[in-house]
Amino acid sequence: PYTGPSAAEVLALRQRYLNPGLFLYYKRPLMLVEGKMQYVWDETGRRYLDGIGGILTVSVGHCHPHVVAAANRQNETIQHTTTIYLQPAVAHYAEKLASKLPGDLKVCYFVNSGSEANDLALLMARAYTGAYDVIALRNAYHGGNASGMSMTAQSTWKFNVPHSFGVHHAVAPYPYRGVYGYDDADAGRKYAEDVKSLIDHATPGRVAGFIAESIMGVGGFVVFPHGYLHHAYEHVRAAGGVCIADEVQTGFGRTGTHYWGFESQGVIPDIVTMAKGIGNGAPLAAVVTTPKIAAVLTQKVHFNTFGGNPVVSVIGQAVLEVIDRENLQANCLTLGRHLLEGLEKLKARHAIIGDVRGQGLMLGIEFVKDRVTKEPGRELCAQVVENARELGLLLGKGGLWSQTIRIAPPMCLTRADADFILAVLDEAIGAAGK
Ligand code: PMP
Repeated sequence: PYTGPSAAEVLALRQRYLNPGLFLYYKRPLMLVEGKMQYVWDETGRRYLDGIGGILTVSVGHCHPHVVAAANRQNETIQHTTTIYLQPAVAHYAEKLASKLPGDLKVCYFVNSGSEANDLALLMARAYTGAYDVIALRNAYHGGNASGMSMTAQSTWKFNVPHSFGVHHAVAPYPYRGVYGYDDADAGRKYAEDVKSLIDHATPGRVAGFIAESIMGVGGFVVFPHGYLHHAYEHVRAAGGVCIADEVQTGFGRTGTHYWGFESQGVIPDIVTMAKGIGNGAPLAAVVTTPKIAAVLTQKVHFNTFGGNPVVSVIGQAVLEVIDRENLQANCLTLGRHLLEGLEKLKARHAIIGDVRGQGLMLGIEFVKDRVTKEPGRELCAQVVENARELGLLLGKGGLWSQTIRIAPPMCLTRADADFILAVLDEAIGAAGK
């Protein structure tokens, strides 16, 4: 049993010594002290199904034995060198990671967070093209550092400091709230017209690049209409820009049909950024690009002290092995379909649900006060999340108004867990909607 400090003690320490801007989801703060695969435990021994996987970082399961064993072996051999020496773990890992990517995407840069990965991708795009302007999407999240904040387009995450110079935000291809809805078969092409319009009106006509998540994460698991990225990429490439896919939340098989989220839109980017699930909770992130783009970056020194550290490299390698061996992508597909069918039924029964959507084990439920006006149901969403916790299920929130529940459990979820999620949601939503 757990013998450390109480939740009240930890809360007091946090309030005194940690970033006061950190937020807590629950009225009664939850403290987690143990994790095993898809489950976590609080200090009283109560078990929860982790429906959000530490915000999508725990991909193959908490403390997965294969990952832990790899980390332990490396920790006892050599923990750190730097890139000025040859190091076998990172070389093997890069080869394995590159084997998962299509086309010429074969050169890996390792960094420590998604924000850093996107910062580096932005640098690559600008250095390679010699252009400066970049197009990102409204409602996107790409990081909390200055360049990440520049590409992010939700006011809640943007501080009032100079950061967005040269970044333009196109209309979000958001079928539920945008002008082109689910009933418009041509919505993907139409939303992409705004990218072209920005190039024509807000830039010199040439751009460095375009960045998009393959499904919006923080924005509330917004799935783009068919063909959106294809058309957007065409406009960007015609203006000399490179295309960056932010796979921080969508990569590594989570979307079920494909290993990478961009593949379900039928495109191949020039630069791919990864974080979160890549390390199953370890601070590992990567940028993968083509030899041609990478060559341009050799103009100057590029160095990252911890990027590609041996311990995180063997962890990353073990994660890829587990996804293959345990067929986790297929599991995401099967259980994702089962869950989405269940969510459709919940939508039919509960009027506070405005929309359900998602791919694989990346599913969203958007709450509204009124289905006609679509007024965001922030408090309803918060109440459902709170109710679900009492019933033993942890969920994520998303969307500009925190109106959307995000379901993204570790990919080792079972069918029984999926049915548990649906049963809990039914009860939690029913109680919130009363
Ligand atoms: N891109 C996306 C799509 C993300 O969701 C996040 C984190 N929420 C980031 C980038 C930034 O990652 P990090 O927090 O590791 O810097």
